[in-house]
Amino acid sequence: LEVPDNPIIPIIYGDGIGKDVAPVAQDVLSAAAEATGRDINWFRLYAGESAREKYDENLPEDTVQALKDYRVSIKGPLTTPVGAGFRSLNVALRKKLDLYTNMRPTYYLDGVPSPVSDPEEMDMVNFRENTEDVYAGIEWEAGTDEVEQVRDFVEDEMGFDSTIHDGSVGIGVKPISEFGTKRLVRQAIEYAIENDRDSVTLVHKGNIMKFTEGAFRDWGYELAEEEFPEQTIDEDTLWEEYDGEAPEDKVVVKDRIADNMLQQLLTRTSNYDVLAMPNLNGDYLSDAAGAQIGGLGIAPGANIGDGRFLAEPVHGSAPKHAGKDKANPSALILSGKILLEHIGWQDAADLVHDAVEQQISSKRVTYDLERQVEGGEKLAASEYAEEIIDRIHELA
Ligand code: NAD
Repeated sequence: LEVPDNPIIPIIYGDGIGKDVAPVAQDVLSAAAEATGRDINWFRLYAGESAREKYDENLPEDTVQALKDYRVSIKGPLTTPVGAGFRSLNVALRKKLDLYTNMRPTYYLDGVPSPVSDPEEMDMVNFRENTEDVYAGIEWEAGTDEVEQVRDFVEDEMGFDSTIHDGSVGIGVKPISEFGTKRLVRQAIEYAIENDRDSVTLVHKGNIMKFTEGAFRDWGYELAEEEFPEQTIDEDTLWEEYDGEAPEDKVVVKDRIADNMLQQLLTRTSNYDVLAMPNLNGDYLSDAAGAQIGGLGIAPGANIGDGRFLAEPVHGSAPKHAGKDKANPSALILSGKILLEHIGWQDAADLVHDAVEQQISSKRVTYDLERQVEGGEKLAASEYAEEIIDRIHELA
C-alpha cells in the first residue's frame, strides 16, 4: 500500500461510548504519527445516531462512498436502532463495503487482568469470515409460509414429531461457499507469511456439518496447496517429513474441531498462531480469546476486504456508560494500531503499543480494569489517553 506521510483517514466516532473514546483515541494516534514525522488528516464521517441527527438516515450513501474512496478508515461502535429494518448497522456497513474478514489480534499486554494462569502465552490473530454462515440472516420464523413448505421434509429428516408437527419450528440456512472460504483463508495465510507466523489453523465443526464446515476445512487446505505450495505445509507432512519441526520458512496449515479448539485456547495456547474460521466459530472463539487477555475494554479488531480496511474495536456502544468519559479507549486505540501497521507505519504502531502497555502496567487505568487490578487507580477516559500521549512523547 502506497501511503503518503499526511494521509486523509476517515473516522466515524460512533454511538454511545464511541463519542467518548473516539476523539481521545484519535488524539493518541495523531500523537504517534507526529512523533514519527507524519501527520494524519482526519476526515470525520457520520453513521448511526449522529447521521440520523444530521441527515435523517442511519448510513448515508456519502459515508459509504467516502469509506470506499479512502480505503483505510476507523470507526467506533454503532447502536442498531430498534425496528431499523435490518439486523445490525455494522453488518449492513460490512456488507456494503464487502469487508469479508473480521480480524482480531489477541495478545497479552503486561499487567492486564486475566482469568487464566499463563495469559502471556496468548499471541493469536483470529480471521473470522464476515459475510456467510448463519449470519447471512436467512431464516424463517415458525408458522410462516416458507416454513410450512418445508415442514414435512424437516420433520422426516429430524425423525421426530409433535413439537414441530404443528409448524412450530424455526428454520435457518447456513451457507458456506468455496469462494467465501478461499478468500478468507487466503488473507489468513498471506498475513501469516508476511508476519512470520508459524501456523494457520482452520477451525470447523466438519465432523457434524460435513457439507458446510467440513467443506470449509477441505477448501482451506485446497487453497493452501493451490496458491501457496512453497510457503505452506500441512500437519501430516510436518510429521511425516520433518518430525514435527517445521522449517523456518514454512507456515503449517492444520485444522481443529471448534469445541476442541476452545479447550486448546485455554490449555495449549502457545500451539496456535493464526486461526481461520467460519463466522459463528469465529464469533465464539475470538470473544473467548479476548476474555483471556483483558476483555472488551482492550480487544481491538479490523474488517478487511479487497483493498479496503476498516479498523473497529470488538466492543459495542455500551449505552449505560455513554457520555461519562469513563469507557476504556484502549480497544479503539489498539484498533488504530492495526491501522498503522496496515499502512506500513510500524514504528508509530509500536509506539502506540508500548505506551498503552506502560499505562496499563502503571495501574492508572479506566474503571473496567481498575476493578480487576490490585492497587488500581481509576482515571477518566480523557485523562488515561492524555497519559498515553505523554508516554508516546517520552518513548519517541
Ligand atoms: P457492549 O460491548 O456495548 O457492552 C457490553 C458491556 O461491556 C458494557 O456494559 C460494559 O460494561 C463493557 N464495555 C464494553 N466496551 C467497553 C469499554 N470500551 N470500556 C469499558 N467497558 C466496556 O455490548 P452490548 O451491550 O451487547 O451492545 C450495545 C450496543 O452496541 C447494541 O446496540 C449493539 O448492537 C451494539 N454493538 C455494536 C458493535 C459494533 O459497532 N461493532 C459491536 C457490538 C455491539
